[in-house]
Amino acid sequence: MILGPLIIVSGPSGSGKSTLIRRALNVFGPELRHSVSATTRPRREGEIDGVDYHFWTKQRFQEGIATREFLEYATVFGKYDYGTPRTEVESHRLRGIGVVLDIDVQGADQLRRTCPDGFFIFLETPAGEYERRLRERGTDPEEAIQRRLESARLELTHAHEFNARLVNDDVERAVDEFCSLIRSRFEAARNGR
Ligand code: 5GP
Repeated sequence: MILGPLIIVSGPSGSGKSTLIRRALNVFGPELRHSVSATTRPRREGEIDGVDYHFWTKQRFQEGIATREFLEYATVFGKYDYGTPRTEVESHRLRGIGVVLDIDVQGADQLRRTCPDGFFIFLETPAGEYERRLRERGTDPEEAIQRRLESARLELTHAHEFNARLVNDDVERAVDEFCSLIRSRFEAARNGR
C-alpha cells in the first residue's frame, strides 16, 4: 500500500500560500487534495463553509479537542482557533492521495513530532511585501493587519526548521518549484522512502 504524501505549507499570512496551493491542485488533479481546516474565526466575504474552512463555534471546536478529532490545532494571532480534522487527511492518504495542509508554524511543530513522514515547506515573501499584500487584500481591519504583521515576524524565526524554503518573489517560478517538490514526494512514497 502506498501512503499519499503529506505536504505541510507554512509561512506568514500574505505570503501567497493559498494561491500556490490552488495552482498545485489544478496541476495534480484528483491525486492531490487540500485539507479543509476547522476554525472559530468568522467567515470572510466570499468564503464557503466546508470549502475554505469548516466554520465551527468555540463549543464545537472544544468538543473536537476533547474527542481527539484534530491532527493538530493552535490558536493563531492569539485570537482564533484553527485545527486540522483527522478526517481531512488520514483516509485520503490511505487511498494514495496526497494531502496539502496550510497551517501556522505552531501546527507544523506539532506535526513534525506526530507525522515525521510529512514534508514541511516554508513560504516566504520578499521583505516589505507582506504588508503591501495584506493591505491590498482589503479584508482586514488595521488591528488585524498589525496582529498579522507581528505574527509574520515571529513565523520567520521558524523558517530554518523546514525541509524546504520557497521564496515567492515570482509566482510562476514558485508554483513550478512547489510542484516539483510535491512530485518528488510522490516518488519518495512510491519508492518507500
Ligand atoms: P486565515 O485566517 O488568514 O485564513 O489563516 C490564518 C492562519 O491560520 C494562516 O497562517 C494559516 O496557515 C493558519 N491555519 C489555517 N488552518 C490551520 C490549521 O488547521 N491549523 C493551524 N495550526 N493553522 C492553520
